[in-house]
Amino acid sequence: MPLAATRAFLVSRQTINENDRLVTLLTENNGLQKAVAPGAARGKNRFGSALELFTHLNIFYYWHQERELWTISRAEILESFYEEISRPESIFEFFTIAEIISRATAENICATKTYRLTSALLNTLKQGVPARFLLIYFLIWFLKIEGLFFDIQKCSSCLQKLQEFAALKTDYSGLLCAKCYSTEKWILSPADLNFFSRILKSSPLQSFYELSSPPARLTELLFEKLEFQLELKLQSRYCLSSS
Ligand SMILES: [Zn+2]
Repeated sequence: MPLAATRAFLVSRQTINENDRLVTLLTENNGLQKAVAPGAARGKNRFGSALELFTHLNIFYYWHQERELWTISRAEILESFYEEISRPESIFEFFTIAEIISRATAENICATKTYRLTSALLNTLKQGVPARFLLIYFLIWFLKIEGLFFDIQKCSSCLQKLQEFAALKTDYSGLLCAKCYSTEKWILSPADLNFFSRILKSSPLQSFYELSSPPARLTELLFEKLEFQLELKLQSRYCLSSS
């Protein structure tokens, strides 16, 4: 079995037996990968504190064409975000981000944009930007990367430029102008559209300084869209307080 190395963020881990753990890695160039960390479930083991959520790692692994899982031989910590993530004001937001990445990213398909997004969010968290803001930044960009974010300029039915009014279609796929609107539930104000537009143009740090805190209803809308279009029910989102 050949030995290879990659940089990666750990996005989930579970104990599979009394010795071993199964981890999910968001790698720099190989997309999402599942890997066995032999011995990692034992009290004293060679991985030490490396296998914590969102630790940035240099992973050395064995792989075999006929097997789905990698086997990790060594994990070096490039940077730990454990202290910032485990704070009460960050933990549920980052659990939610980890759940979305690990459940909604296709395995074995290059996900370098999601890897870079994750890296930018964690570094911005270290600079003191609240996790609540980083969560909405993540939701918008994750949908954009997956090709699911709607066009915020044009009506998806008549293709006219959106003026003062926009309603989100019931299948969450696009916006409607005042003429094409019928009974849609989500109405977006010009301020809401401007919020999305600023996020799509700026880094997390820059957009945090430019925008006031995000309206909670937009986070809710993005969760609904993501769950509907990716056909999943997020467990961690229900731990988030609505304040
Ligand atoms: Zn229209």
